[in-house]
Amino acid sequence: MSFGFLGLCDELLEAVAEQGYITPSPIQIEAIPVVLSQRDVMAVAHTGTGKTAGFTLPMVQLLSGGPSPQAQCVRALVIAPTRELAAQVADSVQNYSRHMNIRSAAVFGGVRIEPQISQLQDGLDVLVATPGRLIDLYKQQAINFDQLEILVLDEADRMLDLGFIDDIRRIQILLPIKRQTLMFSATFSKEIKSLAKGMLNNPVLIEVAAENSIVDTIKQKIHPVDKERKSEVLIHLIKKNNWHQVLVFSRTKHGADNLVSQLKNAGISAESIHANRTQHARTHALDDFKNGNIVVLVATDIASRGIDVNQLPCVVNFDLPYIPEDYVHRIGRTGRIGTVGLAVSLFSEDESKQLQSIERIIGRKFQCDIIPGFAPSERVSVDSSDDEEYGNFEPDPKPRRRGQSQGRGSRGGKSSNRNRNN
Ligand code: AMP
Repeated sequence: MSFGFLGLCDELLEAVAEQGYITPSPIQIEAIPVVLSQRDVMAVAHTGTGKTAGFTLPMVQLLSGGPSPQAQCVRALVIAPTRELAAQVADSVQNYSRHMNIRSAAVFGGVRIEPQISQLQDGLDVLVATPGRLIDLYKQQAINFDQLEILVLDEADRMLDLGFIDDIRRIQILLPIKRQTLMFSATFSKEIKSLAKGMLNNPVLIEVAAENSIVDTIKQKIHPVDKERKSEVLIHLIKKNNWHQVLVFSRTKHGADNLVSQLKNAGISAESIHANRTQHARTHALDDFKNGNIVVLVATDIASRGIDVNQLPCVVNFDLPYIPEDYVHRIGRTGRIGTVGLAVSLFSEDESKQLQSIERIIGRKFQCDIIPGFAPSERVSVDSSDDEEYGNFEPDPKPRRRGQSQGRGSRGGKSSNRNRNN
């Protein structure tokens, strides 16, 4: 299957080819023709499946035929739960519509509102927004929804997790009833079904992978270690395996900063990304990570959703997440479309409950591999072997430099600090 069969116009096919995409991903094969037919869509797909192109490509094609936006009007509104995801989706819109006459922008909190008000003055074809800032702009009478044709709710499950449901409902009543609505969510929970019922009109349901499924291109490793030796183990693994680009998850902001100091002391370049850091610092850290200027990015769950680094070779769970679904989201940052990834988890005795919950939702038992020289002093109550080998997994010798495509992604998680400041 090639992109040419999906009904996309030449300008979009050219832009897709320039991105280096050869074949559409399953969500794109399913979603693009349905969105082009102007039906509402409920899609169950998480980050890494190519869902962003799945809705932005047909969306800009539909918009390209219509009238220009009037002052302060937006013709398509994409609502995203976090600033980074909003910026990333806006980058995608800009990339894909580069050969078309489409005006787009992103608005989110944490930065001055005045430039965003100016951007809206002449109207926009596509606005990507976080809920809080969108409501602020509406209150300041900077935005008008009379011309709205398409609404997209991206990562709707995360929107609910972060407590944005009231904001969404408030926004919904401001929008024209006659519109096309697309909803994307990593899970299809009861809450999502009920949200979908109130917002979508006779939607086509698209599901590309079973809930909580893990792509088989991800090699998962669990190493039992003593809690206080985790940093030492991480440093050992990075040096021994010559890892050049590692995304590390920490449960707390403090833990993330601590780990960064220890890595730096060991001569490994690292930065953290979490809710206490300014938007500027977060964007900067992510760019440095993507460009290969730093080896390790330590992220809390809140900051990690949607982090989109092309072919990220390795993800490490420094702490196991409290919410087992977060394990699936976290390791989904690696093994993206068509690439092999490695997900390593450092597991200490006090995390047995979390490990069991993860095993339950992914439907298999892990075999724990003890790292020679780092055997835990307590007995771990799981199957274990003395195998530190990484099989035929070979991380890239060098980090890949990214072109101008997407990137500033982020996710929020239940397990760490909730950030309503967007
Ligand atoms: P998403 O799930 O939208 O966050 O996309 C995940 C990653 O896949 C991004 O880096 C996209 O640039 C990339 N991508 C999207 N569609 C394709 C495709 N058809 N072929 C290869 N990579 C793609």
